[in-house]
Amino acid sequence: MRPSILTPLFATTASLPGIGPKNAKLLDRLLAGSGKEARALDLLFHLPYAAIDRRNRPKIADAPLDTIVTLEVKVAEHLPPGARSKAPYKVLVEDDTGDVLLVFFLANHHWIEKSLPLGATRWISGKLELWDGHRQIVHPDRVLDAEGFAKMAPVEPVYLSTEGLFQKTLGRAIDAALAKIPALPEWHDRTALNIPALPSFAEALREVHRPNTPESLAPQTPARRRLAYDELLASQLALALMRAKIRRAPGRASEGNGQIREKIAASLPFALTASQTAAMAEIDADLGAETRMLRLLQGDVGSGKTLVALFAMAAVVEAGRQAALMAPTEILARQHHQTLATFGEAAGLRLALLTGRDTAASRGKTLALLAEGGIDIVIGTHALFQESVVFRDLGLAVVDEQHRFGVHQRLALGDKSAAADILVMTATPIPRTLVLTYFGDMDVSNLREKPAGRQQVATRTLPLERMDELIARLKRAIADGARAFWVCPLVEESEALDAAAAQERFVHLQQIFGDKVGLVHGKMKSRDKEAAMDAFAQGKTQILVATTVIEVGVDIPQATIMVIEHAERFGLAQLHQLRGRVGRAGAKSSCLLLYKAPLGEAAKARIGIVRETDDGFRIAEEDLRLRGEGEVLGTKQSGLPGFRLADLYAHGPLLSLARNEARKIVEESPRLEGPRGEALRLLLNIFERGEAIRLLRGG
Ligand code: ADP
Ligand code: MG
Repeated sequence: MRPSILTPLFATTASLPGIGPKNAKLLDRLLAGSGKEARALDLLFHLPYAAIDRRNRPKIADAPLDTIVTLEVKVAEHLPPGARSKAPYKVLVEDDTGDVLLVFFLANHHWIEKSLPLGATRWISGKLELWDGHRQIVHPDRVLDAEGFAKMAPVEPVYLSTEGLFQKTLGRAIDAALAKIPALPEWHDRTALNIPALPSFAEALREVHRPNTPESLAPQTPARRRLAYDELLASQLALALMRAKIRRAPGRASEGNGQIREKIAASLPFALTASQTAAMAEIDADLGAETRMLRLLQGDVGSGKTLVALFAMAAVVEAGRQAALMAPTEILARQHHQTLATFGEAAGLRLALLTGRDTAASRGKTLALLAEGGIDIVIGTHALFQESVVFRDLGLAVVDEQHRFGVHQRLALGDKSAAADILVMTATPIPRTLVLTYFGDMDVSNLREKPAGRQQVATRTLPLERMDELIARLKRAIADGARAFWVCPLVEESEALDAAAAQERFVHLQQIFGDKVGLVHGKMKSRDKEAAMDAFAQGKTQILVATTVIEVGVDIPQATIMVIEHAERFGLAQLHQLRGRVGRAGAKSSCLLLYKAPLGEAAKARIGIVRETDDGFRIAEEDLRLRGEGEVLGTKQSGLPGFRLADLYAHGPLLSLARNEARKIVEESPRLEGPRGEALRLLLNIFERGEAIRLLRGG
């Protein structure tokens, strides 16, 4: 339950004074995920990215050109265009040093006459230019009388907006949200950040939204630092609480005898990589220890994480316990099940698959077997979280593709057994700083090495206009029996008019390749998705048009061609992930990045990096660097949960401060008691880490 003092911050923007339903919708689009409503808090956390300085108020004769100036003038003359003329409406204004022409194209004459009456004193703000030897301001930003001028913000914040939403409206909404901030107790230590007069949360927000100077927006001002620290402390505190809860429950040693693992190893058609062996040893040591394992297994696409997980699970089964593997999608759960069955069943492991799609009867049977210990390893989707799922003795929970799950879900699986070890796998390697940020101080095993025989995927770029050349090449390859993924960025046209919808591309390719083309996207029923994947895996179809549902984990080794349409719209990590879907069977593979020209700077950089390297760890660093430099691609694309107030590049050093402080807090007051504890609970709620508070009650 969120404390009621925070209710005004979570009010929808539609409920703010002066915001009608139309603008509320636009704010939803700008600030909230699809289908969600933006709230006052989202407005407050939407920081300006620039500021316009209107404090420069020279006399006309001294006014610098090509800069924004604010002039106090008298209206001298109106120069309306002739009746049918397309010429602009001009107004001559002057002070005692010179004059300026105000120029209005397609002007509303009535408005001009009303706002600029002859002889009146007015304040004009806009960019002064020289044209044809005369000073002019085209479409001044502000035309104000004395009253309006008194209210004009000397420094005006500029926000990222969305089509149809005016800065003015956004500014008004933010004003309304600022007015809603309740009086909150301070949650920081008085000495926090070594800032002598630490601005309060509300003061800091006011300062960034109502800057006094453009420099007020710099990341290192006390206000920005405070807000960044608020956010980082909330995330680190949530992680510290989770970790404390997990560690509080004593772990148990799972010491296997190696029998099952030996059988699996003997049946492998390849040798383990050195990285795999090293990771297995690290995990083994954790499993054998009395403390609870909390380990992150990072490895690039195809680096062989699943096998490492299988060995870990087998060790737990040898010790007489059960293991669970959770995947983010049904396709992946099925695929994992298949892989594990290939290697595991011969070794005597009893496996089961549990997804949201099972019939009641088969589900009931699986649940019964799990509860009595008739199943060693269960593989599934989030269906594994449900309360009805009970294990006889869960020893290890493996979570694949971690960042797709929330902290809350991670905990839910861990809760299935108070003492279960936890292994988290991610195919998007994360730079060291981010590991800390998102996972707290988890132990980390890295699979840096790729299995032998893995080919470098030849990566090429091609503008969309030359798709014909690509199709000609594809025809030859398909005739030779090749299999290709064709990835499109969006499922429906509604989101962007020029989006190459997968549907449309499917129809188009069908006209060329007939029934050799399949389609899979997120909006399909899982039965249909699976049928499409199967047909492709079996070679009944040779081109699979897909949206990013194939991004994670899908393993079809026979596929050797990856076409990514509108590559400029994908994030770096995502491009890398997609490319990793090919080049898996040692056959020569290629990746074609189709882009819409001209490429923007950021897209050019991303595509350049993908062409240059296929080291996921390097790509992860570059991704952080690019996004840290203001790439607004959005965190959804990269798969990492983002910060809204903290900029990991600028505020990186605050992260370890926040981590240490969070640890100290949890050590001193593990249940967040007392006045500071209360205040910290508010902090957690404000940054929507309220689920961490739930942990204070249980166990
Ligand atoms: P990841 O989950 O890291 O993307 P997988 O575990 O799915 O990678 O492995 C990708 C493919 O490589 C699978 O087909 C797997 O059987 C195979 N593989 C795993 N380890 C090795 C190895 N040491 N040598 C060769 N192939 C391997
Ligand atoms: Mg995998």
